[in-house]
Parts: sequence; structure tokens; C-alpha cells
Amino acid sequence: MSTIFSHPAVPVAIGFALGQKTIPRSLLFIGAFCAILPDFDSISFAFGIPYESQFGHRGFTHSVFFAACIAAFFAWRNHEFKVDGASVKRHIVFAFLFISTVSHPLLDALTDGGEGVAIWWPFSKARFFFDDTPLPVCPIGQNFFSAAGYAALRGELTLIWLPALLLGLGGFSVRKILGRFTRTGGA
Ligand SMILES: [Zn+2]
Repeated sequence: MSTIFSHPAVPVAIGFALGQKTIPRSLLFIGAFCAILPDFDSISFAFGIPYESQFGHRGFTHSVFFAACIAAFFAWRNHEFKVDGASVKRHIVFAFLFISTVSHPLLDALTDGGEGVAIWWPFSKARFFFDDTPLPVCPIGQNFFSAAGYAALRGELTLIWLPALLLGLGGFSVRKILGRFTRTGGA
């Protein structure tokens, strides 16, 4: 996995770029949760399920299908996410949470260790990596606070957090400029 700290960078950046009128805090919080949710499959190790199994780590929870199911579940419950008293539209909830969840296996597929992700499960059990894997893999368990853990975090700062920050700030700036433009035009 990439470290647990870095997966939420994607929803946080999108939420910041689009603003609370589109992505309210309650939805942003679920987006951050969805971004780490696929790694709950690490519990499979405790049950002796092999890494390579479709039910093992980076298996079915790291698929487009899983992301679509999670996004559809919360889109169905869109009344839980309100902006100015109105429910956030279903397609916005779905799109935001689908991207938040699927970003997880896509980032994992950029790491340089472990198994690939079962991105096309249940249609294929094949494990997938991108051709370039610039992210150092995060050591699992107690080795996290080690030189390898530090290298993983450093790689993620430049390859995940920096682009996320630019995306967030870029979207934020466009929103402010457009807002001013609209206000000026309406006056
Ligand atoms: Zn993962």
C-alpha cells in the first residue's frame, strides 16, 4: 500500500478544489474514509488468506467494481449529505466517492512492491501494476517507523501530496476568480 496518510489526499484535494457548496464536510469525510477503505482487506492476513488470492490484500477491494458499489451505496443514501438544507445530487455523490475509492488501487498500482491490484475483479483476477512504479511501497506493520517507512512517506509527499496541493489550490483559485467574475457580472 501507499501509506494510510496519503490515500485521503485525493478526496481532500478534490473537496478543496470544488468547495463546500459542492462537497460538504460530511461527504468529504466519507470520501477520505473510502480512500482508505480498500486496505481494510489487510485483515485477510490474519485469516491466513494468501496475498495472491482474490480475497487477499489488494484483491477484490482494490477493483473498479468495488469502488462503483461503494459509491452507489452512498449515492443511494444521498440525503445524508446536505448543502444549505438540500441533499447533494446523487450523481455528484457517486462521482466523488467513486474517484475517492478507485484512486486507492490506482495509487497502489504505482508502488514498487507487493502484489499488483485486482483492478478488473470480478471479470479478471489478474493483478495490475502501471509500467512505471515511482512510489516506494510502504512496509506493513511495525516496520512502518523505519528508514523504508520514511522513504515511502517522502516519495508520497512529492508524488501525491504536492500534485494534490496544486490541484486543490488550482481549483480553489479558479472558483474564487469565477465567483468574483459572476458577482461583478451580476452587479
Ligand atoms: Zn491498498
